[in-house]
Order: sequence, then C-alpha cells, then structure tokens
Amino acid sequence: MKKVIIIGGGIAGLAAAYKVARAAEAGHEVEFTLVEKDERLGGKIATHYVDGFVIDGGPDCFLTEKPAIHRIAKLLGIFDDELPTDDARKRTYILSRGRLHDLPDGVMMFAPTKFWPFATTGLFSWPGKIRMGADLFIKAKPAGPDGPADETLESFVVRRMGRECLDRLAEPLVGGVHASDPSRMSLAATFPRLLEMEQNYGGMIKGFYAARKKVAEMRRKYPPKPGAKPRTFFTSFERGMQFLTDAMADAAGRERMTVGAAATSIAPAEEGWVVELDDGTRLHADAVIVATESWAAEKLIRPVDSGIADALAGIDHSSSATVSLAFEESQVGIDMNAFGVLCPLAEKRSLMAATYSSTKWPGRAPDGRVLLRGFVGGPHNQAIMAESDERLAEIVLGELREVLGVKGDPLFAKVFRWEKGMPQYTMGHLGRVETIEERSAAHEGLALAGGSYRGVGVPNCVESGERAVSKVLGEWGMELAEDSEEQKRYY
Ligand SMILES: Cc1cc2nc3c(=O)[nH]c(=O)nc-3n(C[C@H](O)[C@H](O)[C@H](O)COP(=O)(O)OP(=O)(O)OC[C@H]3O[C@@H](n4cnc5c(N)ncnc54)[C@H](O)[C@@H]3O)c2cc1C
Repeated sequence: MKKVIIIGGGIAGLAAAYKVARAAEAGHEVEFTLVEKDERLGGKIATHYVDGFVIDGGPDCFLTEKPAIHRIAKLLGIFDDELPTDDARKRTYILSRGRLHDLPDGVMMFAPTKFWPFATTGLFSWPGKIRMGADLFIKAKPAGPDGPADETLESFVVRRMGRECLDRLAEPLVGGVHASDPSRMSLAATFPRLLEMEQNYGGMIKGFYAARKKVAEMRRKYPPKPGAKPRTFFTSFERGMQFLTDAMADAAGRERMTVGAAATSIAPAEEGWVVELDDGTRLHADAVIVATESWAAEKLIRPVDSGIADALAGIDHSSSATVSLAFEESQVGIDMNAFGVLCPLAEKRSLMAATYSSTKWPGRAPDGRVLLRGFVGGPHNQAIMAESDERLAEIVLGELREVLGVKGDPLFAKVFRWEKGMPQYTMGHLGRVETIEERSAAHEGLALAGGSYRGVGVPNCVESGERAVSKVLGEWGMELAEDSEEQKRYY
C-alpha cells in the first residue's frame, strides 16, 4: 500500500485527497493522510451561517467557463447545488472622480466591444476614449521565436489603451480582483490570453469583439436545455463555497484528515519521506504533497531542496480582508439592484471593491434583509491590516456610506482576514514556477500544489491538487481511467 501525506487542507489539498481516494476506489493500492494546521478544512474557502445569512469570507464564486469545479461537483453529486448569479439585477458601478458610473455595456475585461455605451459613458474623458480607440490602429508588438515577450499588466494596458484606461478600468477590474499591483503583475502568468489576442487579432478591441461574437454564436448553437440553470459568468453554491470543500472532505474521508496539526518539517527517509508535526508526531509516507501557501512551503522544502525554496521565496503575497455587513432592507437606504462597485486606486479610498452579496447570489440573506461585502487591503494598503476587526468594520461601513450612500446601522459585521493570502504573480513568476516543477520532478514522491503557482482561481487550485497526485501516481505506474487523454497531457 502506497501512502501519500498531503500537507494543507485548502481546496488544492482536498482536491488531491479526493483524487487519491478515487484512485483507491478504482483499485489502486494507495491511501492518504491529510494534515491541516487550522481547526477547519477549506483554507481560504470559508462560509459562515449567521441568522439565516450565508457569508463567504474568502472566494464567493468561480469562473463558470473553467470546467474543474463542474466536473468535481458532478462526481460529488452536488452539481444541482451550483448557483448562477441573478443577472436580471446585474449592474456594476465604478467610482470615478467621486461619482458612480455604470460599467459600460459590452466592456470585456478592459476593452469596449459596443460603440454607444462606450461613447456615452461619463467614466472616461474624451481624450481618454480616443486613446482607448487607438487600440484599433496600434500594431501588435512583434513576438520573438518563443512567442510574445512578457510584460506587466500596466505596460500592456498603457501601451494599447492608454493610462486612463489603466487607472479607471483595468486596475480596479483586473488588478483589484487579483489584489495585485498592475505595475508588477506578469501578464504571461495572469492573462496569457491577452498576449495571444494581441498577436492573433492585432489588438484588444478586435480580439474581444471576436470573443463576444463567438460566445453569442455558441449560445445560439447550444441554447440552454429547457429547465437548465442559466449559465452566468460566475457561479457559486447555494450554501456558499465551503459547501464544495465540505463535500470534497466528506467524499475523500474525513477520518483520514487531521485538523489543528501543522507540519513542521519534511525529510527524505531511507524509503520515502518523513513528515514531522508540531506535536512531535513523525509520519512515514511514500509521497508528500505540499499544498500550503508558497511561503509556508518554502520553510518545509528548504532542507530538501534549496533551489525550490529560493524559487518559492520569490513569490510575494499581499494581505487583505473582507467585511460583510448585514442590514434590514428597509434601513439600508440604497437601491440594491446591483452586483457591486469597484473603487480605482486613483480614488484614494480604503475600499477596493464591494459586492451586493444578497443581490448577486439569491439566498444569501433571509427575506427582508440584505448583505453587503467590502474588500480592503491589497498591495497598496497593507497598513490597514494592523487595524482591529471592529475598526475594519467601521472603516468599511464608513466607505459604504460615502461611496454608495448606505444609511442605517448594520445588524452585525463579520470580518475575515487573509494575511499573506493572495499570491502576487509578478514578472518572472512563470520562470520560478518552472524551476519549482522541474526540480520537484527530480524528487520521487514530492509534489507541490496550490494557488501560488499556475492560477489563483478555485478551479485552477483543484487542477493543481489533482496534477500533484498524477505526478506521484505516475511515478508508481498507477493511472486513473477517469483522466481523459487531454487531462493526462495536461497533467
Ligand atoms: C479574499 C479572497 C477572495 C478570493 N476570491 C476568489 C473568488 O471569488 N474566486 C476564485 O476563484 N478565487 C478567489 N480567491 C482565490 C482562491 O480563494 C485561492 O487561490 C484558493 O482558495 C487557494 O487554495 P489553496 O488550497 O491553494 O490554498 P489555501 O486555501 O491557502 O490552503 C492552504 C492550507 O494550508 C494550510 N497550511 C499552511 N501551512 C501548513 C502546515 N505547515 N501544516 C499544515 N497545514 C498548513 C493552511 O492553513 C491552509 O488551510 C480569493 C482569495 C482571497 C484571499
């Protein structure tokens, strides 16, 4: 019987555990033990249920177009629990020069694809709009023999669409969502599609216009089946995102998982590996999957391979917090028919963004009550993380009053802190990840997984955990029939 120890019980570690369990079910002689330092499984995925409210403290959704979560949900039998957004109430505001503007219809990422909404929006100045339109005429940067050279999100957007587009749209929409600084973000690591789009279509407007047409064509060709849930851009679960990680833990086997147990070291043994826990326990295994944040992995890996550890040390993280505030609908004093507001850095506010959680996700608040969620921190405001929970709740409430006009007092506030919670895919990130992957390939029975490497999104983390299992199973000549040829190639 081969034994795999998984360190870290976030979505990546749980995806790894669930895959080992499926391999065992398929007849392979393999089992796992998972250790998680916190008292709860799920990592950044954390849902609290308070007085009928469903409150997600970390991710509240995933990108619908990425297949990994749907695949897992089908395996778990919880596909019907997926929750689309309530697009009848879809509206996104961007704060600009102190005023709220609608995100113009047809904007995809940061490129306009419909003329009138773009021409008539007050979000940009006329010189700004003309500069954005110049994207249609600016030639693509020539690609080298290995494809287009990497550059920062800032340099790419400013080069193609101008600085106003960066400051008013791309930074809050893209940099803000990643809680990352556009002047340091590697485009190849975060949005490689944009580099390809420039080469294939000659610019962002043409590229996104073609993408929009393709989506419309697919919708015409494959209309939703009668009674099927609408396919919206983002998807969640009716009981919040932790419903997914809980179902994964149940299916993989909670009896094989220990919470409140931190791994303090890993070391190669005569056969396999030894993992030491903070209570002094020594666990023996044939393989170890390190599914922690990269900064936690660095400490564990350094004695094993300083080259991997150095590459891990090069991955920065930023801290952030979400503050959910519950209100009586009659007291909140704003029109709740919107999904959220984005606050560009240029507005110099503490609030980065806010979500109208109970509008975007039906069922997040009991009847007659509403839920708003503010997002603070990020690379430009790490100082705010020193504030107490009470103060963070006051700050977010104050911001919601000033930005959205929220009245009334909240019924309660719930603060979630994510210290060093968001990896920063800065320039050189892909090189660091390649080093990590190449060097760990040389250690039989060692793999790393998680959001620090090839995608921060929840579906990417699932794939990362599964890839780590495929690496170690592959070393033992074990194959899983469920892996399609495409997945095998990918893994
Ligand atoms: C505020 C916020 C909002 C987000 N919103 C979205 C969103 O809407 N959609 C989306 O797709 N993504 C979103 N993300 C990103 C996504 O949530 C994360 O990338 C993903 O959940 C990370 O999963 P993971 O398993 O890699 O890591 P984690 O969830 O961080 O899990 C790692 C686990 O390892 C444990 N650990 C660390 N050291 C040890 C040790 N020595 N021994 C044992 N255990 C250890 C930790 O306690 C932790 O539980 C968001 C992230 C944040 C912070």
